[in-house]
Amino acid sequence: MKKIIVLTGAGISAESGLKTFRGHDGLWEGYNIYDVATPEAWQRDPELVQRFYNERRKSVMEAQPNAAHLALKKLEEKYEVLIITQNIDDLHERAGSSNVMHLHGQIKYACSSKNPALLYPIEGYEIKMGDLCELGSQLRPHVVWFGEPVPMMTKAIHEMPFADVVILIGSSLAVYPANTLFDYVSSGAKVYIVDPEAPTISLKNELVVLKGKAAEKVPELVEMLLNS
Ligand code: NAD
Repeated sequence: MKKIIVLTGAGISAESGLKTFRGHDGLWEGYNIYDVATPEAWQRDPELVQRFYNERRKSVMEAQPNAAHLALKKLEEKYEVLIITQNIDDLHERAGSSNVMHLHGQIKYACSSKNPALLYPIEGYEIKMGDLCELGSQLRPHVVWFGEPVPMMTKAIHEMPFADVVILIGSSLAVYPANTLFDYVSSGAKVYIVDPEAPTISLKNELVVLKGKAAEKVPELVEMLLNS
């Protein structure tokens, strides 16, 4: 069975109503990312950071998978599919995809601010200041902030050379180290990009760029791959 690795970013969830953050204003839901998504922001103003992610979590819980998430599930009928996502939402899982790797964490989980390996599913949409882990430290969102290590990268890098096909959907490839994954693609793999403003990547691989929105272009691409 051929293996497809799908790399997804914020753009795949845009049509589910979740905003990307590298829009034309460079903000994420009106916030400068350095005020809400860095360890320094958490040190400076944990209430603000907590409130920001509580709002994001509420939006994720209200959102539904769109046609692009649902089509990727269908791809499993013919291929071994691994989704490596930069997204912190759970829309791939809710669409039924069975093999999803989250590089930047999952907003539906809290983690200990003393030991990030201690994870707790969140009841409802809020982590409150004063909610503590078993070590007695404040719970924080289980998301990787700018400047923090990305523990899942090693596993993701290991998987890349095994892909016969790589599909990049809705990522500006502006975020390090996720944007280095193409360095590990095998030379024989075919690469597809789905994005209205597809990022430029320098590759010797056969490359097809489908300019457009994910909910329209991904189902078309999946049909083509299922029939090829
Ligand atoms: P990004 O915001 O840097 O880039 C988004 C990309 O999606 C752009 O290339 C844009 O042209 C494209 N896009 C916009 N609308 C699209 C659509 N309808 N269909 C297809 N593509 C579309 O996103 P990134 O590269 O994923 O980096 C952002 C970081 O922010 C990630 O680390 C992620 O953790 C975080 N983030 C996550 C979410 C989420 O979980 N849904 C939302 C916002 C930001």
